[in-house]
Amino acid sequence: MQKGTISVQTENIFPIIKQFLYSDQEIFLRELVSNAVDATNKLKTLALRGEVKGEIGDTTIEIILDKEAKTLTIRDKGVGMTEEEVNKYLNQVAFSSAQEFLEKYKNDANLIGHFGLGFYSAFMVAKQVDVLTKSWQKGAKGVLWTCEGNPEYSIGAHKKADRGTDIVLHISDDAVEYLEDSRIEGLLEKYCKFLPVPIKFGTRKEYVDEAGETPEGEEKKQVEVEVDNIVNNPSPIWKKQPAELTDEDYRSFYNELHPYSQPPMFWIHLNIDHPFNLTGILYFPKLNNAIEAQRNKIQLYSNQVYVTDDVKEIVPEFLMLLHGIIDSPDIPLNVSRSALQSDQNVKKITGYITRKVAEKLQELFNKDREGYESKWTDLGVFVKYGMISDEKFYEKAQKFVLFKNTEEKYFTIEEYREKVAPLQTDKHDKVVLLYTNNPDAHDSFIRACREKEYDVLVMDTIIDNHFIQQLEYKLGNVLFVRVDSDTVDNLVQKDEKRESVLSESEEKAVKEVFESLASEAGASVTTQALSPDAYPVVITKPEFMRRMKEMQQFQGMNFGAFPDSYNVVVNTNHPVIATKLLAETDAEKKKDMARYLYDIALLNQNMLKGAELTDFVKKSIGML
Ligand code: ADP
Repeated sequence: MQKGTISVQTENIFPIIKQFLYSDQEIFLRELVSNAVDATNKLKTLALRGEVKGEIGDTTIEIILDKEAKTLTIRDKGVGMTEEEVNKYLNQVAFSSAQEFLEKYKNDANLIGHFGLGFYSAFMVAKQVDVLTKSWQKGAKGVLWTCEGNPEYSIGAHKKADRGTDIVLHISDDAVEYLEDSRIEGLLEKYCKFLPVPIKFGTRKEYVDEAGETPEGEEKKQVEVEVDNIVNNPSPIWKKQPAELTDEDYRSFYNELHPYSQPPMFWIHLNIDHPFNLTGILYFPKLNNAIEAQRNKIQLYSNQVYVTDDVKEIVPEFLMLLHGIIDSPDIPLNVSRSALQSDQNVKKITGYITRKVAEKLQELFNKDREGYESKWTDLGVFVKYGMISDEKFYEKAQKFVLFKNTEEKYFTIEEYREKVAPLQTDKHDKVVLLYTNNPDAHDSFIRACREKEYDVLVMDTIIDNHFIQQLEYKLGNVLFVRVDSDTVDNLVQKDEKRESVLSESEEKAVKEVFESLASEAGASVTTQALSPDAYPVVITKPEFMRRMKEMQQFQGMNFGAFPDSYNVVVNTNHPVIATKLLAETDAEKKKDMARYLYDIALLNQNMLKGAELTDFVKKSIGML
């Protein structure tokens, strides 16, 4: 055995490796298994080129736990290393790249995936590491390299029968969790699930048909056998060509990623070589309104090695609701997250994903409009969110974003504009799009619209407020108006004046009665000559004020500046007002009558609550 010092010039990095990255300690297994995969792939390449003579045999990577010896071994049958190579790669290359990584980490602890610590990450969990290796080269001898977590190492010849490398970790006392089967199993599942070389972790029992003949009329007996427990799927479908795959393949892969989830609505297979390499599958899940629960379910891989499930720098925000996998060796991994966003490749990748999603939606819309409409409840959130947050997506989505009206019919923006423009254009030539966020609560307002042959849209998702705002801004010539924001006569044209049956002084008298009631609530009262068939009193919520307030609430701001304001509109042409109320001479009775009409209007807007509601109910029963 020969002794040596890894690096004499620089400080001892071992204590730093041990201490930091504590929360991401577990990545050591990914780093070592990836090295084993690399060594195996290198061997396969050499074999393809004819440099390795003969059969290369089974190349399954093995993970071996020995609880008694307190070791965890990563065994590959890859290229192995000669003594010279161990000196070069482990003592020099690996060591200086670990140093470089630590240097980077010091400046920016927020590195994506913590890639790059490499071989020396073993010392996060091991007090001693033995590397037992034998090169593929003819006549190569086995080598043992040992290091006890300090710059001194020893190296020498060692008997090793087979080609390949064993990395033996002598687990430190404070990292005994890595001697638990379940912990290792969990890590392999997380980081190694789709690595391209089979990885074995122990054995498992399987039931198979008994060998040999079965007598006529009898069922085959099942026997228990021990088989290798292969923990990964070395050829995941995203690496295959879309033409080779069936819908069932995509669905069952989704199920593999998200067991117990509802099947996805559809998917996009990403597959591009140039100007960057990216493969992957993105699924559109059924949202079922559980939007938050569906976020952060895209995993980033690099050549089938799991990197992270935090991809917000790579996937546009509005697509974070998609599920699935993206795999790209062109996303720089040992850079900080902030640097990622300005990376040119990442920008191109983000643009590519957005474009693919838009193309897919357009294709579905063109091919099967009915099917597309039936998925709109789930799709709408993506599309609207995308239109709000991404300029390029907005341009594309204009052609396939849908409006739904209260009759459950769907329209594109263009279709809808054409449909309603004849009756719903105001004097500024803006098309007024009437909407409700709650068809049940606005039933009477919607009916009033129908009588005028106005159409009413349903805008009831959480982002519709923002979406409306965005459309008004972008389209320029449309105006969204909620059905309860004014009386139906005024919703579209504000200048159609009807003759009032009351004189000016009578109108004033009516107004005063209601003002005395409304002042407490800070509401303002107007009298209007509406149709005698309209309600005597209507509560309206002016569009602008209401929207401002909702936006503020959405952003969690205090909304002191915009009180919950509403208008009380008294219909001076309604007989109850024009004859009954005016004719009442008893001031007290007059006020009671006005109160009752006012309460009915509040009730109609779902605003009569608590004690007022109880009083109203009592009064109504009393009247019978
Ligand atoms: P990286 O894998 O990024 O090159 P590492 O520090 O993990 O950096 O490893 C340094 C080098 O050590 C590798 O490039 C490889 O040449 C060699 N090496 C590490 N593990 C193995 C292995 N299991 N078999 C053969 N060579 C290995």
